[in-house]
Amino acid sequence: MVARNAPAGQDAAAPAIAMPLWREDRELTFRRPALSGNTSADVAIVGAGFTGLWAAYYLLQADPSLKVVLLEREFAGFGASGRNGGWASSIFPVSLGRVEQLYSHQSALDLQAAMNETVAEIGQVVTDEGIDCEYARDGFISLARSQAQWARARATVAGAEKFGTPGQWKLLDAGAAREKINAASVLGGIYTEHCALLHPDKLVRGLATWVEDHGGVIYEDTAVDEIGKGIARTQRGSVTASVVVRATEAFTPEFPAYRRSIAPLYSLVVATAPLPRQLRAELGLGGRTAFNDMRNLRIYAHPTSDGRLVFGGRGAPYHFRSKVDPSFDVDEKIHEKIITTMHEFFPALRDVPITHRWGGPLGVPRDWFPSVGYDKRNKMAWAGPYVGDGVATSNLAGRILRNLILDKRDTLNSLPVVNHKSPKWEVEPFRWFGVNAGLRAAATADLEERVTSKPSKISALMEKLTGAH
Ligand SMILES: Cc1cc2nc3c(=O)[nH]c(=O)nc-3n(C[C@H](O)[C@H](O)[C@H](O)COP(=O)(O)OP(=O)(O)OC[C@H]3O[C@@H](n4cnc5c(N)ncnc54)[C@H](O)[C@@H]3O)c2cc1C
Repeated sequence: MVARNAPAGQDAAAPAIAMPLWREDRELTFRRPALSGNTSADVAIVGAGFTGLWAAYYLLQADPSLKVVLLEREFAGFGASGRNGGWASSIFPVSLGRVEQLYSHQSALDLQAAMNETVAEIGQVVTDEGIDCEYARDGFISLARSQAQWARARATVAGAEKFGTPGQWKLLDAGAAREKINAASVLGGIYTEHCALLHPDKLVRGLATWVEDHGGVIYEDTAVDEIGKGIARTQRGSVTASVVVRATEAFTPEFPAYRRSIAPLYSLVVATAPLPRQLRAELGLGGRTAFNDMRNLRIYAHPTSDGRLVFGGRGAPYHFRSKVDPSFDVDEKIHEKIITTMHEFFPALRDVPITHRWGGPLGVPRDWFPSVGYDKRNKMAWAGPYVGDGVATSNLAGRILRNLILDKRDTLNSLPVVNHKSPKWEVEPFRWFGVNAGLRAAATADLEERVTSKPSKISALMEKLTGAH
């Protein structure tokens, strides 16, 4: 029998496909040719995700005569860029307080302003270039669904005002918050207009096509084994270039030279079948607002353009020696936890089928601080990792890479991400213990808040230690 809220013709018990929702309409057999033999370029980019594609976009836009070559091990958008939660948000992974500590108050303000402007910049580019990626800028609400979360919501808004970013967050009471997203147990929330939703794989495809239409070359099925001074070496030939850009985020530790630079963490996602219009209206899911609640172990959700709910979260374990493997993309236990959380938000969705489940790796530097840089002497550039906030940040990174490589003066060049150096991760097994202890601490902090109804002491300590928020 089909249950009450299941869309017509769909059975809630039907198994979900283990594939990103975003790839459903992709021609999976389509592959671009691989590199064959040696070649040269002005700029060689390793990795065709958002970082590589945005860098290529801005470089070619600034100088159409450049020869730009992208080398991609699988296919454009194979990594996090083709599978993420679709939030192009102005959230920077490190708190502004921590940025101030490391750089200056003004640097932190400039960084937040640049992140805000980046959300609009993506919208402008996709409009100008006619890239249909379902970009919708309806903002983001973080709901407070417990007393502890409500206290944190008020503290966040007060903190932003005190810091000098008074318009960044707006405090919403329970009624106003529920008007945006009508989840269970809502006590209030904080809202920012600086967030858009998009279909990530459509953005990848649109950018890749633009790059090719403007003279860039993308080689797929081409794994780079080594990045040297002005050279990217593969089994199929080498590309010599004035600069080689490393744009491999979570996969970076696979290069021996960068083994301890990044820890890959998995984020997992589910999508429901399209929801009946009436149900969407009842739950406040009729618009395109990104949302989560203020728990410590991050979750993210949004209604898609075709009326589904996409719901994701962290919590999957870090794998020993920074291993990344397609078998980690689906984790029965964590996916079930995500579905349970979604049902806690919206009990009315219990009977709605989950049609897709997937996941992927994102990269975390030791101090959670993304970096964009250029080492002219060694003919190397890089950008990332972004700790799960890479959809917008990779666009900012693409513009900074353009500036640094083309020696273009710009205020973005003095942002604190430029040439930021993160410390290395610990050697194993300390890294494994440390990262997984951090994940457990975030889950325990949520439990602590449920018991005490007060903001977690563990969470406050974690923020103090990492600067992450
Ligand atoms: C499930 C999930 C949900 C997320 N949700 C959000 C979100 O909602 N909002 C947000 O801001 N961020 C989100 N993120 C993070 C965001 O998607 C990433 O930070 C961003 O896409 C990184 O882009 P990138 O181009 O740097 O890396 P990737 O997209 O990972 O691209 C790297 C590319 O390099 C290729 N590659 C790797 N090694 C080699 C090699 N040796 N040779 C050649 N090519 C190689 C890979 O195949 C890959 O295509 C999420 C991430 C995940 C996994």
